[in-house]
Amino acid sequence: MKYVDEYREAGAVRGLLAQLRQSLTRRWTLMEVCGGQTHTLLKTGLLQMLPPEIELVHGPGCPVCVTPAELVDQAIEIAGNPQVIFTSFGDMLRVPGSQKSLFDAKAKGADVRIVYSPLDAVKLAQSNPNHEVVFFAVGFETTAPANAMAVYQARELGLGNFSILVAHVLAPPAMRAILAAPNCRVQGFLAPGHVCTISGVADYEEIAREYRVPIVVTGFEPVDLMSGIVACVEQLERGRAVVENAYARTARTHGNPYAQALVETVFEVSARTWRGIGEIAASGLKLRPEYAAFDAIARFQPAIRFGGEAAECIAGLVLQGLEKPDRCPEFAKRCTPEHPLGAPMVSSEGACAAYFLYGRHAH
Ligand code: SF4
Repeated sequence: MKYVDEYREAGAVRGLLAQLRQSLTRRWTLMEVCGGQTHTLLKTGLLQMLPPEIELVHGPGCPVCVTPAELVDQAIEIAGNPQVIFTSFGDMLRVPGSQKSLFDAKAKGADVRIVYSPLDAVKLAQSNPNHEVVFFAVGFETTAPANAMAVYQARELGLGNFSILVAHVLAPPAMRAILAAPNCRVQGFLAPGHVCTISGVADYEEIAREYRVPIVVTGFEPVDLMSGIVACVEQLERGRAVVENAYARTARTHGNPYAQALVETVFEVSARTWRGIGEIAASGLKLRPEYAAFDAIARFQPAIRFGGEAAECIAGLVLQGLEKPDRCPEFAKRCTPEHPLGAPMVSSEGACAAYFLYGRHAH
């Protein structure tokens, strides 16, 4: 195992940039899938250092950003139940639903609490037997094992007052949807390293074959990102389209089988609606029938109100790499991290927040 400092060395980044310039003969458009990668690209100035032939478009890998407004509305309705202690990671609190956020609901008296792990919510349920504790289970493959563990543990403990509001999404179906769109410009992917740590690198081979697109599993430090970009461009220049692993210190071919087994015990694959994008078949997780008793939707039956996103927010285009955040007419005007119109301006992984915080005129 190598330590993280080695992946932040300016000399190593410069060497990879030189290698990239040597291999380039034309323009290429790549997508970094994960919002964490977008933030590193902007925060470190890497995006501005890339040769002009390389365009990076930003992908949908921000779980908070892709959680639809109607689910936030349902969370708010559940949180409004006086019996409920509603728990969530902090990022979700400021994400706008159709009219308000969980933070607004908290300000109006709902018992909404930030937790740092779903297991904290399980503990809360144990110590509050007269309340219902609900956890907002948002995330990609990376957070699914911990959420599965929370439900599994709650069942083992016989907790009747714990449930989760599931908003789990999966990365490969979103990448397929992006590639299948008629206006897709993506020629190569930097796949999300953390997701692959759980689900495995092999998960992407079929996509690379089917769409003739290079996919390089990439980490989150500057050297990781540059290595991913160089590997992807070298494939494109040679007409290759295979899966490569530039994050081998963490991601393995078949991922983490223990985590996968736990997820498969508790969840099954289902259709999911993505904010601003719409429904994508088999792109999410839902609780298996054996664990249906822990489903907050079934327990509280909140109303479903479709639509309700701010009309001027182009998050759907941003999340598919079809627009850049700073081309949104509301960027840094009516939409700021203090007053977000859309989820990508709220989340610590959101592309709009990255542009606002680190570089409004990134290319
Ligand atoms: S800048 Fe704000 S309004 Fe524009 S796409 Fe991003 S989140 Fe939506």
